[in-house]
Amino acid sequence: MIGLAVALVAAAGLRYEVTASPGARELAIEARIPAFPDRDGELSVDDGAEPFVHDVVILSAGGAVPVERRGDSWFAPSCAARGCRIRYRFALREAATARDDEDLAVLYGEVVESPPGAWLLRPLRVPAGASAELSVSTPEGLRFVSGLPRGQLSVSALGALPYAAFGELRVEQLRLDGGSLLCALAKAQRRQSEEELLGWVRSSAAVVSRYFGRFPADGALLLVLPVPGDQIHGRARGSGGASVLFFVGTDLDMAEARRSWQLVHELVHLGFPSLSRQHLWAEEGLATYVEPIARARAGELSQEKVWGDLVRGLPQGLPRRGDEGLDRTHTWGRTYWGGALFWLLADVGIRERTGNRFGLEHALRAVVAQGGSIVERWPLRRALEVGDRAVGTKVLEELYAKMSSLPANVDLDALFRRLGVAVRGKAVEFDDGAPLARVRRAISERR
Ligand SMILES: [Zn+2]
Repeated sequence: MIGLAVALVAAAGLRYEVTASPGARELAIEARIPAFPDRDGELSVDDGAEPFVHDVVILSAGGAVPVERRGDSWFAPSCAARGCRIRYRFALREAATARDDEDLAVLYGEVVESPPGAWLLRPLRVPAGASAELSVSTPEGLRFVSGLPRGQLSVSALGALPYAAFGELRVEQLRLDGGSLLCALAKAQRRQSEEELLGWVRSSAAVVSRYFGRFPADGALLLVLPVPGDQIHGRARGSGGASVLFFVGTDLDMAEARRSWQLVHELVHLGFPSLSRQHLWAEEGLATYVEPIARARAGELSQEKVWGDLVRGLPQGLPRRGDEGLDRTHTWGRTYWGGALFWLLADVGIRERTGNRFGLEHALRAVVAQGGSIVERWPLRRALEVGDRAVGTKVLEELYAKMSSLPANVDLDALFRRLGVAVRGKAVEFDDGAPLARVRRAISERR
């Protein structure tokens, strides 16, 4: 057995010892639960995972005593009063097959992805500040990975944990400027070699680190999972730790993967705080805007490609009839391209007002320096204030006031004319005599 302790505790916290069976079919779990303030001693797991919890017993000197189940909860009043040790099984593979839900459990090839909240049975009412520790053992050949941070894990956060997986995984800690990225590649029959995939992940993470001045989410997990065909897409999540699920089609050509935007897009998400739902445009717009800029700076995209895509894409982000501003109009176009337009205007505005001394990246670096990665939930205003202060302007706050709850139309033709960008058919032409040509070059030129 290989033991992996994700150290998360404080004294008198919950402690879970999880043992995975071969193929991660089942988890055998023992938990030490300290006394907690609930007369009924109610315990449960994430919604929807309850049917896969079996044989819950309290372990005592007199043997194992079954714990009563009612509905979606288990009731152990003696446990609440005095603390206890419990043992149970979780049918992980069955949950993955039946639920097929990445927030609960899902099977990709032979890898089971399942955030730990699905299988950690816990008191529903705990004192604020209670902590938990998790230790996972796997049989030879099987690995467990998660985006859980080192340090304490709060019990009240057990329902919102990062992505995690059991399976045959190649796990590499990629060291980057200012942090590291844990990359877990599912073993699979695929057209790309593991070395090719790792090299691509490493260079994509380096592109993002260079833009932010450091890798923005130390200890993040990137789980690379096989899907059929030549798909490529991903999802980043910050609750309980930074983690990215990234899907690479087993038939995808490696050159195609290197040309695609999705991986850098997801990694850019790591470098900005998680916001409330109405500001999704700020998160998606930022990843949409920064991804090509960061790649162009690293020499991965041409200037023509970056600016041509902006000229062609941004009109989709303009307000339509009935628009109520970015915070209130949740269409696809306004979320991705409307958000990207906000950040382009911010970048141009900061550069204009600071004589090109600062750009958007300096504002974003200040946010990251204050701990504003995807793991933290911030009000958007806080991020904008921190950014503005770092570059000595009010550009971000003023733009937000203008665009958040009003349509705020933007004359894109005039903007691109000032930047010196023109698209004629398939050709992208640059005018270095344009008033903001220096700003355009400072945004995207290779450095
Ligand atoms: Zn995104």
